[in-house]
Amino acid sequence: MTRTDQLTDSRTTSGRTVLISGASIAGPALAFWLNRYGYAVTVVERAGTVRSGGYPIDVRGTALEVVRRMGLLPRLRDAHIDLRRLTFLEGDGSEVASVHPHAVTGGVEGKDLEVRRGDLTDALHGAVRDDVEFVFGDSIDTLDQSGSGVDVTFSGGRERTFDMVFGADGAHSRTREEVFGPEVQFHRHLGYCFAVFTMRNTFGLSHETVMWNTPGRAAALYAVGDDDEVHAFLNFAAPEPPFDTFADPDRQRDLVTAIFANAGWEVPNMLAALREADDVFFDGVSQIRMPRWSSGRVALVGDAAYAPSFLTGQGSSLALVGAYMLAGSLAGRDHTAGFAAYENGTREFVAVNQGLVGSGGATLFPTTAEALERRNAGLRDLSAMPPAQARPAHSALTLPEFRPMRGGTIDRG
Ligand SMILES: Cc1cc2nc3c(=O)[nH]c(=O)nc-3n(C[C@H](O)[C@H](O)[C@H](O)COP(=O)(O)OP(=O)(O)OC[C@H]3O[C@@H](n4cnc5c(N)ncnc54)[C@H](O)[C@@H]3O)c2cc1C
Repeated sequence: MTRTDQLTDSRTTSGRTVLISGASIAGPALAFWLNRYGYAVTVVERAGTVRSGGYPIDVRGTALEVVRRMGLLPRLRDAHIDLRRLTFLEGDGSEVASVHPHAVTGGVEGKDLEVRRGDLTDALHGAVRDDVEFVFGDSIDTLDQSGSGVDVTFSGGRERTFDMVFGADGAHSRTREEVFGPEVQFHRHLGYCFAVFTMRNTFGLSHETVMWNTPGRAAALYAVGDDDEVHAFLNFAAPEPPFDTFADPDRQRDLVTAIFANAGWEVPNMLAALREADDVFFDGVSQIRMPRWSSGRVALVGDAAYAPSFLTGQGSSLALVGAYMLAGSLAGRDHTAGFAAYENGTREFVAVNQGLVGSGGATLFPTTAEALERRNAGLRDLSAMPPAQARPAHSALTLPEFRPMRGGTIDRG
């Protein structure tokens, strides 16, 4: 059966067509499950292709069960990065402590996954690309829900009507803005900005992270393997988000360079690399918090609805779990009941994971000398202790079984 036949076939079976905006983590995961439940799925992605590469991300707790049910666990286990050491440095470059990464992330040795973001997006895309229509290099221009479906015009000029539309287009979601209004209502700034980019591994680092801190400033190098590249990360305190820099790469470089001027350790080399890098990603550290994740026939998933910030290390896990819950909640229900079930089943899990920032998520980045000394004292104690147990937030949801049955209805376990 060809891909087109399959698409036609699934349309005939369910009669329901859906559009997902965004092909990163939440988008393809949602496409996978909706396709399972008989929907004809189209995914539109602004970029020209699935964006591969990128920093390491964690998949933990409940999200591990999602990727297991998708059949992706063996592939992701093979891609596991296995960071072995996390070393903290004083402002002068001397060592504070060297610990196992799980001691501070709350991960579980031998169980949790840490993979390159691109390995996860490639695996998710590979799991659905033959069953789902992907449209790259385009995006939603307008959405109109006044008829019996959602009338969509695309930036490329086409017009199509879908039964439902999903925004999986990240923390700065255009779908959210179109349906719910400006981001500022939902954006919660957490007091930092950061830049990530890759640079040459001239440091001899292997399977480890080294982090340098002074009050309000952190510089880290992540060596995910033995290769000749490291991920450079520069994080700094910013009580207000610098809105004027978000759309201007030159201003971002200038701001970061000014903040880290006169910094020690390898920071001058990092700033030199920042000038040359072509993959700089700069953003504020923030969360998205919304009173509702749906409106009419449009719903949001992943960072678009509930970005938790990298301080929690749970963004990808929330995207995977949210996609599973959204699709399963819809199977056998109309959009109104399905979206309500999605919120009921998922909101508490999101809340406890977003709450991790209030329970120590930002302690790795102290902004005062006293707080930094407290953190360093804690790290010295930690280095003498075995890795901590997993934080319960990661596993705070037991996944329901949504089993597809004849006629598009399902069993709920
Ligand atoms: C430095 C850093 C470190 C991180 N570390 C971790 C970690 O350790 N663990 C963890 O779980 N998470 C981590 N995260 C967060 C994680 O990357 C995100 O939470 C996760 O990627 C959310 O996935 P998503 O699919 O919801 O959104 P995104 O990954 O943001 O994807 C959105 C997609 O939508 C596309 N798009 C945007 N606008 C449009 C449009 N108008 N039309 C069509 N397509 C559009 C984008 O191109 C993109 O492909 C980290 C993030 C950063 C920046």
